[in-house]
Amino acid sequence: MLSKKVSQITPSYTIGISTKVKALKQEGKTIVDLSIGEPDFFIPEKATERGVEAFHTNQTKYDLVPGLITLREAIVEKLKSENGVLYTPSDIVVSSGAKHAITNSLLAILDQGDEVILPVPYWTSYPEMIKICGGVPVLLQTNKTDQFKMTLESLKAHHTTKTKMLFINNPSNPTGAVYTKEELIPIVNYCIDNGIYILSDEIYERICYTDSFTSIPSISEAAKANTILINGLSKSAAMTGLRIGYTASSPEIAKAIATIQGHLVSHPSLASQWAGVGALTESKTEIDQMVAVYKSRREALIKQLNTMKGIEYITPDGAFYLYLNIGSIKEHVAFEGAFSLKVCDDLLNDYNLAVVPGIAFGTDDYIRLSYATELSLVQEGLKRIETYLQSKL
Ligand code: PLP
Repeated sequence: MLSKKVSQITPSYTIGISTKVKALKQEGKTIVDLSIGEPDFFIPEKATERGVEAFHTNQTKYDLVPGLITLREAIVEKLKSENGVLYTPSDIVVSSGAKHAITNSLLAILDQGDEVILPVPYWTSYPEMIKICGGVPVLLQTNKTDQFKMTLESLKAHHTTKTKMLFINNPSNPTGAVYTKEELIPIVNYCIDNGIYILSDEIYERICYTDSFTSIPSISEAAKANTILINGLSKSAAMTGLRIGYTASSPEIAKAIATIQGHLVSHPSLASQWAGVGALTESKTEIDQMVAVYKSRREALIKQLNTMKGIEYITPDGAFYLYLNIGSIKEHVAFEGAFSLKVCDDLLNDYNLAVVPGIAFGTDDYIRLSYATELSLVQEGLKRIETYLQSKL
């Protein structure tokens, strides 16, 4: 009954974990849940005001498929002032979250069997999205010593006649790695020279602890023409449930994306879009404050990690995750299937701690935890991980 396509799709690990967490909570257990990449802040006050106002002023009907013109103008202004890249509203399509912006882009670009190069570790949904849209994910292994960033040599090694696209997630979920401009330029130029589109997922760009972040389209006019930029308000403005993401691309690609979106969903909720206007135009201070909180949590957690034995970590330069290497206990743990799944099951069942197995991101010796949650809880989570590791070493 079901399509062949669906049988190739792996269900989301993160949704699997939250289902288990809910079941344990129902049994009366108190779980420290560090599995979800969801900011623990309220949305900015002005975003709420604008969203509520939309209901009161009857902004509840169909509107333009690529998104409210006021919101697209606000996005254009943001991309100019914060990322140094010039777009016009006709280059922007507002979608129901960044996930939707990515799948729209894949539908617009990929033909059946086209290859998409995906650096590992990758955000868990990417390979499945590529498969849903008819593409073939080609995994590019990166090295811990390169902070898990791809190099030009590794890109060349994965380039075939079927390559259509390269994914870059900068800053990265799960590692928090941020590419410098010098690292990006050869990769971007190679893609331009070889007709490989870049999908640059910059959803964590606002949550960055170094000034080395460079938005790929800002590198050159050719880079801009060759890139679909993905961003949104789920992470930066804590607006996960309001589902506002967007693409910025050439007008030709934007038109194709809008054609697809017009048939599938028309446009995201207008109230959410108005909330987005409030977030982008009137909430800078509040967003800066959120970023400052992530930054101070990150510093406290790095201090704690430095006192822990049996663990290696990548210092995150962006996003709000810790990606911990727990390979030191591998030979002391009995497991079938994925090692990181076994570790996460142990942590959940025996230590009431929910984290995400590295296998969800293509690297099985790791676990990911989110510090988009109260610091004391994350610190408690790290203590539980330490106790677990000690019991195995
Ligand atoms: N891209 C990355 C790298 C993410 O981590 C996420 C969410 O976790 C998304 C996209 C999806 O964002 P949205 O909630 O706006 O669909």
